[in-house]
Amino acid sequence: MDYFPYEYRPGQKELIGFIDRTVRDRRCAVIEAGTGTGKTISSLCGALGYAKDHGMKVIYLTRTKSQQKQVIRESKAIGDVMCVAVQGRSAASCPMMRDDPDLASGNAEEMSKLCSEYKKKSGGTCHCRFFANIEGQSVDRWVDVIKREHPEPEEFTRMCEDADICPYEMMKPILPFADVIAVPYPFVFMPMVLSRFIEWIGVPLSQTIMIVDEAHNLPDYLRDVQTFEYSEKAMDLAAKEAVDHGDFELHEGISVTDLVAILKEILAYAEKEYLIDEDGMLPPYFLEEELMDRLGVSSTTIARMCKAMEEIGDGIMEKRKERRKLPRSYIHSMSRFIRAWIDGDEEHYVRLVIREKDNPMFQAYCMDPAGASGPLNECFSSILMSGTLKPLDAFVDELGLERADQMCLEGMFPKENLLTVYTDRVTMKYEERDLPQNYDVMMQMLIDCINAVHVNTAVFFPSYSFMDRMVDDGLVRRLNRDVHYEQRGMSQPELMSVFENFRTSDGGVLFCVTGGRISEGLDFPDKALEMAILVGIPYPKPTAKLRAIRRYYDIRFGDGIFFTSTVPTVRRMRQSIGRLIRSETDRGVAIILDRRAVSLKDLEAGFCDDIPSKEKEFFGTRS
Ligand code: SF4
Repeated sequence: MDYFPYEYRPGQKELIGFIDRTVRDRRCAVIEAGTGTGKTISSLCGALGYAKDHGMKVIYLTRTKSQQKQVIRESKAIGDVMCVAVQGRSAASCPMMRDDPDLASGNAEEMSKLCSEYKKKSGGTCHCRFFANIEGQSVDRWVDVIKREHPEPEEFTRMCEDADICPYEMMKPILPFADVIAVPYPFVFMPMVLSRFIEWIGVPLSQTIMIVDEAHNLPDYLRDVQTFEYSEKAMDLAAKEAVDHGDFELHEGISVTDLVAILKEILAYAEKEYLIDEDGMLPPYFLEEELMDRLGVSSTTIARMCKAMEEIGDGIMEKRKERRKLPRSYIHSMSRFIRAWIDGDEEHYVRLVIREKDNPMFQAYCMDPAGASGPLNECFSSILMSGTLKPLDAFVDELGLERADQMCLEGMFPKENLLTVYTDRVTMKYEERDLPQNYDVMMQMLIDCINAVHVNTAVFFPSYSFMDRMVDDGLVRRLNRDVHYEQRGMSQPELMSVFENFRTSDGGVLFCVTGGRISEGLDFPDKALEMAILVGIPYPKPTAKLRAIRRYYDIRFGDGIFFTSTVPTVRRMRQSIGRLIRSETDRGVAIILDRRAVSLKDLEAGFCDDIPSKEKEFFGTRS
């Protein structure tokens, strides 16, 4: 059956056919598809044929609410498809906790534990009326409503509020009826969440087809999800909790506060001995040896002390739960960290000391994303897509994808609408970036490129600090244009206001950073953005963490630099450049101020020794 609800554009039939074949062969589709190829609708149509015929579910993994809405909209356009979006547990989905600032600050795990407590009955009455009211609801009626109205997540929450029921709990019995379920990444890549989610949907993992959009983010996400850390601030909170509860002896005169004091000493020592710039790699068994040495105990005793702290933490959490407080214990978290650090494997993790602002921490950073990609191999078939996934072989290897078939589909929009050029006169190479003959020329080129044409222009700096430095050195004064700034730590509303002011400006200039929130998720249609200037190639900083991952990839694939620098850098740059062309009529110029662009073939940039003239030629009378 042909599910495609629109007129086909070139390449879309092939894309859907490729996905359909891959699903039927029970394989994994890895697809780079440029802007305008209709990835969401094509992947749904490619997967739904087999899924509906065989009683399988399509699980669409999203990173943002707007992606979820897009999946619902496209499912609605297809017609005979029931699609629901599930959001993670948060204050927004819990009317019971939402209005209590303390409870609303809880994380998903804490809220889930407290929710179990609320759901319990005492004297025949449930403590949460929003849960109790679900009993009288007809699931069939809700399924009909969803099939008819295709509500977006906020609308579904509103409907539940009107009925005085819990949206999170009401969604669970509905899920087995859905053909497509849009969920955030943690539902699949966090094992505890996945096992519960699989119970709710009513089919095993092997009967699901996974679609991952914006999959270029996946390697970093999967590393982060397996990484854990413990900061000095968390240690202080554990000490305070211990004092509040009368401190506890863990072993022969060693109390919780003694242990915290020793941990802080070790952290300070690690900073002094190993920290270079922002991080430092710790030797194998550093923490456990320091703990044994300073406390004068064996590893078995440390394990016993951890067990004791877990019991203390469990007690504290239990009492808090009874008082309807978030079941949180900092002593428990400390124990979990020490155990995980000591028991964790040495092969896939690098142990670091990190200084973030005034909060130093230990971090066990997971170098291998493949350790968490299992569900993509265990499901029936998976489809991973992005506009910037090349080189596909590297992506497949990095994630450890089995049975992968690859496809590259060019963007649908005329190639001549995008001009990408680079200069060989400057570089952001670490050793040269600050030399006056490089820095001054870079500044002048930037000014000339911006002032040459009156079009909305985004300047992507390699970092906030480099942006600040150029601004301090007078860059803005020498531009004949209004400048808008993306700043460190901006709230979402602040960022959106900057974005909106720039988008609606006439020839405004936006200063932002490559890899920041503007260079990825936001769309600039039509004349909202016509020129993008990339100040240097944003290779990652050579931190201890990066060096460790590089060595790991050297051993695993024989080319650490390629996997840890070249591939992510090119993907980031293509994301930034991709902001220029979002529709058939968009035209734009991308300028790379770094001679090293010559070696990054996937950027498809041409050399130009007079970029301002080239801009004028491209924009013609509008310059
Ligand atoms: S059942 Fe729903 S409303 Fe009640 S506590 Fe749990 S999440 Fe909150």
